[in-house]
Amino acid sequence: MSTYPYEAPETQSQLLFDRARAVTPGGVNSPVRAFGAVGGTPRFMASGDGAYLTDVDGNRYVDLVCSWGPLILGHNHPAVVEAATKALRNGTSYGAPSAGEVELAEEIVARIAPVEQVRLVSSGTEATMSAIRLARGFTGRGKVVKFAGCYHGHVDALLAAAGSGVATFALPDTPGVTGAQAGDTLVLPYNDPEAVKAAFEAHGPEIACLITEAAPGNMGIVPPQPGFNRFLADICAAHGALFISDEVMTGFRASREGMYGIDGVVPDLMTFGKVMGGGFPAAAFGGRADVMAHLAPAGPVYQAGTLSGNPVATAAGLATLRHCTPDVYSHLDTTAHRIAQLASEALSKEGVPHTVQFAGTMFSVFFTDKPVKDYADAKTQDSKAYAEFFHAMLNRGVYLPPSAYEAWFVSAAHDEAAVETIAQALPHAARAAA
Ligand code: PLP
Repeated sequence: MSTYPYEAPETQSQLLFDRARAVTPGGVNSPVRAFGAVGGTPRFMASGDGAYLTDVDGNRYVDLVCSWGPLILGHNHPAVVEAATKALRNGTSYGAPSAGEVELAEEIVARIAPVEQVRLVSSGTEATMSAIRLARGFTGRGKVVKFAGCYHGHVDALLAAAGSGVATFALPDTPGVTGAQAGDTLVLPYNDPEAVKAAFEAHGPEIACLITEAAPGNMGIVPPQPGFNRFLADICAAHGALFISDEVMTGFRASREGMYGIDGVVPDLMTFGKVMGGGFPAAAFGGRADVMAHLAPAGPVYQAGTLSGNPVATAAGLATLRHCTPDVYSHLDTTAHRIAQLASEALSKEGVPHTVQFAGTMFSVFFTDKPVKDYADAKTQDSKAYAEFFHAMLNRGVYLPPSAYEAWFVSAAHDEAAVETIAQALPHAARAAA
């Protein structure tokens, strides 16, 4: 095993990490940022521009994380910066309705046909938590079905076999979640219709909803097998349960209309985040008008937020969505396929077992030669090989997700020069992983 460069204690990142650990658990405000799965010192970032991040030591990286998905136009996109700055000049938060919220809601409703009404919140976690509460309030039932390896934010009831961070840190279950909170959650293997049938046969009348990532991205990209999402929608309808499609990651990214734009399956409720906030905290849940009518103030199911529909976030989100033209999606598609192919060629040349999987314009590289159809398959990855690969890329100016269980994100700003930097780094990284 190599020792990782940049661990020299004198780097600004190291110094900041030391200070951060003194005042923040693990030194980070979201666990996967700590490089726990790959080792070494997390880079503290000073700025982002287009396809690039620059850290506090002046190292520049092609960014394949893109803030975990939101930055579909790249860092610091002029139109997004201008919209946010303009909004900011008019005040930071009103605590009263504003036009920007209406426009963002209209944009989402116009674009995603199953969404008749939408409520804005500030994070994907809030969106899924609220959608589940609404489903329970609407159906008068308690149980929730989810899939192992799907992550829906850190909602208590959904933190069971939740992919990415949880898998990375090998937490078997989550301390702090009570038996009562988790006891109404049924966790099933992904892409397994028989398991879903059995769960509905055993518990049908008690199931309020089934929630799934429209295409899981939090165990790496695992596309639903053909017909799987439709099957889920049908079985929910047959049993009077609501079907919730979590498009926090895939929404406005897998395609212009997210995974809905690819498989056309109509859920009862959908959740969004990431891209729709343009790099600011904005997220949403929405769907059937008769279900959404159960939300306060029109209905009895309570849900609220001090900063929900924040004017700066809605302005940035709206600018982002409006700049996501068909050309942007075709660029993402081409670029994602090129990078995936370059990675695959480099890894094949060194005999490193790997599998590349796509969902629309999203992809990830698994360090296993088996096709990955569920969480158990994803866990067969060689995480040590990924750690070597990750650090070799980092040292050559490419910032990959610091975990083998994540999607690689590209943006409209990933141009020829960015792809060339990746192409130059890959052979070294593949050799390190071999
Ligand atoms: N749902 C999915 C599919 C996600 O990928 C995420 C975050 O990665 C969430 C929900 C939670 O979103 P947030 O981190 O904004 O709370």
